[in-house]
Amino acid sequence: MTFSDKPDVPVFTGPPEEIGEIEPLDFLVIAPHPDDAELGMGGTIAKMHDEGWRIGVLDLTTGEPTPHGSETIRRQETDLATAALGLTWRGNAGLINRSLEPTLEARKLLASYFRMLRPRWLFAPYWSDAHPDHVAATQLIEAARFWSKLSKTDMPGERYHPERIYYYFCIHLRLAVQPDWIVDISDQWSRKKSSIEAYASQFVAGRPTEPPTLIDRLRDDAAYWGRLIDRHYGEPFATKEPLAIRSLRDLF
Ligand SMILES: [Zn+2]
Repeated sequence: MTFSDKPDVPVFTGPPEEIGEIEPLDFLVIAPHPDDAELGMGGTIAKMHDEGWRIGVLDLTTGEPTPHGSETIRRQETDLATAALGLTWRGNAGLINRSLEPTLEARKLLASYFRMLRPRWLFAPYWSDAHPDHVAATQLIEAARFWSKLSKTDMPGERYHPERIYYYFCIHLRLAVQPDWIVDISDQWSRKKSSIEAYASQFVAGRPTEPPTLIDRLRDDAAYWGRLIDRHYGEPFATKEPLAIRSLRDLF
């Protein structure tokens, strides 16, 4: 892949009130850093995009300061990753890496995105993690979901409450997690891999090339989740609220 001058879905970096009129999203993935959405649920994003769903990703921080790359490089990498998966909308809230906190100001900002984008569902990072930015992001998303339905506020857009919040796994703790469901991403693994390799400054450059590489590890993880559902590759998810299904036919 190469950097293109004009990505199909450029990263929106303005304030939420400037998003303007857009058709509501089916779901919005909120990521502490550019690359977390791809690592956690890139296969599911690609799959549902192909099924015609309207999907957005909001990266909360630019990833700066970072030990590798630069803000410009990471923005280009984000464009490549978006192209690999397919998205309806992508934005960056411009919060500060390593300093993410569930403040009232950040809650209001995030709730404003929800009111403008009106996603039916939210996907947040799993609630237990070693990275303080990830833990803060989860708390922030849950609080902002509640705030987005408030009236008598100066937040832009109409009051709105995303129906469901689900959790993807992009965790730094070595947890043996028990997910609530696993999505079959056997046909989407190669695109997920491409979207992760797009972040070359983070996952490829300077990394050990002896197997198992980081990408090898991620493939092994996907194969493990796939094996639990008798498929080649899978992606795990969690929920705090019970899942609703229309019929037992939804299970396989
Ligand atoms: Zn992260």
